[in-house]
Amino acid sequence: MPFRSGFVCILGRPNAGKSTLLNALVGEKLAIISPKPQTTRNRIQGVVHVPKRKGKGGGQIVLVDTPGVHKPDSSLGRKMMVEVREALEGCDLVLVIMDVTRKFDPRDQFALDLLRRPKTKAFLILNKVDLIREKSKLLPLIEQYRKLYNFAEVVPISALKRNGLDTLLDMVIATLPPGPAYFPEDQVTDQPARFMAAEIIREQVLVNTSEEIPYATTVIVDNFEEGAKLTRVAATIYCERDGQKGILVGKGGLMLKKIGTSARLQIERMMGTKVFLELYVKAEPGWRDSRRFVEELDWRRQLEHRMLEHGTPEHGTPEHATPAHNTEAPSAPASGMTPDDRNHTED
Ligand code: GDP
Ligand code: MG
Repeated sequence: MPFRSGFVCILGRPNAGKSTLLNALVGEKLAIISPKPQTTRNRIQGVVHVPKRKGKGGGQIVLVDTPGVHKPDSSLGRKMMVEVREALEGCDLVLVIMDVTRKFDPRDQFALDLLRRPKTKAFLILNKVDLIREKSKLLPLIEQYRKLYNFAEVVPISALKRNGLDTLLDMVIATLPPGPAYFPEDQVTDQPARFMAAEIIREQVLVNTSEEIPYATTVIVDNFEEGAKLTRVAATIYCERDGQKGILVGKGGLMLKKIGTSARLQIERMMGTKVFLELYVKAEPGWRDSRRFVEELDWRRQLEHRMLEHGTPEHGTPEHATPAHNTEAPSAPASGMTPDDRNHTED
């Protein structure tokens, strides 16, 4: 039984449960989740190591979570859609995930259109079946989707309750080509810890604020120093207006304190060290429409810049390749593999 491996892209509308599925399959929180649409802004790789089982070969699935498919109306939105398209390039399989509690609408068609172009092999994943009593109600939905795309499989799941995931994993592995492990056993993501810290802070902003603030906010980590016992993090929460800044700071700084404390505890869990977190809030009017600002948020780009400036990603700290669950020096490729790297090595 050959070892199988490949890149599997998770595609769907905002809020379908893509990031919940990624976290559930990897078994670790790699992507932040919220009930607000457009929580995920860049593509996120998560590695699922599937051991050899009775009668079945083992494998490695590199899952790629993506921002929700939508018609962009800002530089940020356009960048998010570029992330979706880049994730689709060169992947072996696409999981088109839909929320079964929602009716089909033109936005679903838009997602399917992205798929049709490269003629990729795809599964239709019906998510949130825990919210549907009568499973027969799914049949017309399946019919409708099957008319629009030639799906290789249709798999009902609940990403939240972790139902149907073993079946899904088996089907994915069986579909992938024989191939090598792209990541070492102990690595679950290519995301730098520095960027994951920014996301954890942004999640706390999403959880604790409402209305336009979640959309108007982004987080940049200005400093990230990893020590054996203590990690020092300094980060800035950017919003668009002084009024939003006032809300984010809160009366007597209470809101910022709340966001900071919850984020710090999560970063401590991720790093396995104590964390000293300094948080700042800045108003940067119109940042979502500034191509330059939005491009600078891209951690892959940030890494490149640091490599050019210092010759190392972060003054010699290898945290960018450190698996989320351990802080030992990894033997992994610098920022993980992408389907493109793979194509180069095969040439
Ligand atoms: P994404 O935008 O597609 O990445 O969606 P998220 O993973 O962020 O999830 C959006 C919302 O749907 C969150 O509130 C999740 O808790 C919820 N959700 C995701 N999967 C399920 C599921 O299987 N069942 C239910 N009931 N809720 C889910
Ligand atoms: Mg998401």
